Amino acid sequence: MSSVIRVTVWNEFRHEKNEGEEPSKVYPNGMHEVIAGQLRNQPGFEVRTAWLDQPEHGLTDEVLANTDVLTWWGHMAHHEVSDEIVNRVHARVLDGMGLIVLHSGHFSKIFQKLMGTTCNLRWREAAEKERLWVIDHSHPITAGLPEYFEIPHEEMYGERFDIPQPDELVFVSWFEGGEVFRSGACWHRGKGKIFYFRPGHESHPTYYQNEVIQVIANAVRWAAPMDTPTPFYGNAQPLEELGSSK
Ligand code: ZN
Repeated sequence: MSSVIRVTVWNEFRHEKNEGEEPSKVYPNGMHEVIAGQLRNQPGFEVRTAWLDQPEHGLTDEVLANTDVLTWWGHMAHHEVSDEIVNRVHARVLDGMGLIVLHSGHFSKIFQKLMGTTCNLRWREAAEKERLWVIDHSHPITAGLPEYFEIPHEEMYGERFDIPQPDELVFVSWFEGGEVFRSGACWHRGKGKIFYFRPGHESHPTYYQNEVIQVIANAVRWAAPMDTPTPFYGNAQPLEELGSSK
C-alpha cells in the first residue's frame, strides 16, 4: 500500500450531457468532477476521474493497477458497460481494491456480480426529504458525523433492498413519504472492501453537501487496501511433524 490513497472516481456521465435537463444544470461538468474536486481537498488523496465513453471505460489494466479505491456512479447505461471490464474490476476487488458504489449504481453489473442478488428496490422521484441515521457510531465511515443528517431533496429508495445481509450496516435512511432504507452498508469480498452509499440522484445537488462528501471520504479511507499477505490456497505441507503427539 502506498502512503497516499489513489482514488479513481468513475461516472457514467450521460445524464449530464442532455442539455437543458436538470442534471446538466446541477453538474455541468459531470458529477465526477464535483466528487473528485472535493476529494482532492482531503489530505493524502490522489484523485483521478474516468467515465463510460473513454476507451475501456477509462478503466485500463494500468489505471486499475494504480487505483486503491474506485467509486462508481451509473444509471441509464449499465448495460453498456462491457463484461470484460466488469470482470477486470471484479478481479481487482477480490485482490484488495476498495469499491464504493453510489446511488443508482445498485443496478450496475459490478455491484450485482459482487452481491449475487438482484439489488432491486422501490423508488419514487418526488424531491422529498431524506434523513440518514448513523447506526454504528464506532464505524470509521461515520467519523465526524452527528447522530443523523438530512438531505433536503432526494429521490426515495425504499425497502426491501434485495442485497445479501451486510457485513456492517452503517446508515439507515428515513424518507418523508414513510419508507426506510439501508442506505450505507459494507461487505468484504476476497481481500476487497465494498461500501454502498445511497444518496446521489442526478437532478439534486447532493454531491455538493458536506456530510455526503465526508461519508465518501471516510469510506475511501476505510476501503483502502491494507498491506496483508496473499493467502495460500491448495495442497499444504504440515507446519508440525505429523504423528508426534501419539
Ligand atoms: Zn436516481
